[in-house]
Amino acid sequence: MGAYTFHISNPILPIKLLESNATVDELIEGESKTWKKDLVQAIFRQEEAKCICNIPISIKGMDDKVIWGLSDKGLFSVKSAYFTDLEKIKHKTGETSNSDQNERIWRKVWRLTSSGKVKQFLWKALNGIPPTRSNLFKRMVVDNSTCPICNREEETALHVLWDCPASVDVWSEEFSPVKKWRRNYADFMSVWSDFHSKLEDEKLHIIATMLHCLWRRRNDLVFEGKFKGPSVLFQLALQGVEAIKLAQEKPRESQLRTTDSLRILWRPPRLEFMKVYVDAALDTK
Ligand SMILES: [Zn+2]
Repeated sequence: MGAYTFHISNPILPIKLLESNATVDELIEGESKTWKKDLVQAIFRQEEAKCICNIPISIKGMDDKVIWGLSDKGLFSVKSAYFTDLEKIKHKTGETSNSDQNERIWRKVWRLTSSGKVKQFLWKALNGIPPTRSNLFKRMVVDNSTCPICNREEETALHVLWDCPASVDVWSEEFSPVKKWRRNYADFMSVWSDFHSKLEDEKLHIIATMLHCLWRRRNDLVFEGKFKGPSVLFQLALQGVEAIKLAQEKPRESQLRTTDSLRILWRPPRLEFMKVYVDAALDTK
């Protein structure tokens, strides 16, 4: 069957699908010798599940045997290992620049002056793991993966945050930093990479807050039946950015003021005297 490495998409599944010592044959229908597609899709990421289900299964039910997949005859040879290694070295330069780019993106996400909640959401979105209908459907938590806002397409992170017509309206608002931006991205990471390489930090901050607002609006619709229009949502995001800025500036200002006034007003007590500081509050109710 060849050598493949796949990652379990979420080890903490809401429904226990397999035992921890399960083997590959538990993903295959015994008699028909076909993949148990629903089970594979529930356990692995979408693209990996597709890849697994495309692996042909022998209908003869022959015993497993070790095959060296890098040579035509399936037998190990030093020559094939040498050429495989050479190919890896050739591609290494490209891979290194990719991983450098990813590292820069992550560093910037954590350095953004947005709130912790915004950063956490962004991290989830970039990893493709927010509880969208698409992700919940794969884990058999909901029975369909359609977007609850437009009811037209599969609700992936890319869809809800960028492609959904309701999100397009928000991104097209007059003061949007990404108004008239290109729309054809493969996944949400590609969208963010583009923002990251073309926009300055302040605009990225607005966009990160906007993304979190879009997700909260989606949740408000699903759980409370409420929905905010594009201008209201855009204004909310801008207010969120301002509030964070103020919150970050205020402590520094008030700290400075307090230190200054203390320096002016406070005097050490005279010898044999002691200063006692007290505080009191009154509840008038
Ligand atoms: Zn939609």
